[in-house]
Amino acid sequence: MKKTCNFCGNKNFRDKQVQYFYKRNNHFLIVNNVPAEECEYCGEQYFKASVLKKIEKDFMNIYSARKKSKKLISIPLEEFAELA
Ligand SMILES: [Zn+2]
Repeated sequence: MKKTCNFCGNKNFRDKQVQYFYKRNNHFLIVNNVPAEECEYCGEQYFKASVLKKIEKDFMNIYSARKKSKKLISIPLEEFAELA
């Protein structure tokens, strides 16, 4: 796949497996080991549309209770203005 990084114009990418953080209307889904291409220069990550569609579909299934996620974790939440 020949393409150019939208941010820095670099043309070299490496294949990586990354943790993807999906957020929609204050609901979250974290997916581990998602295939991505990472710009070798600035580190920007690119995902195939099919990969993002799959994550979005899984998110919908989980939040519409059609599917139970593999694992549930709790995430600390803070308001920045309240931080010491
Ligand atoms: Zn780049």
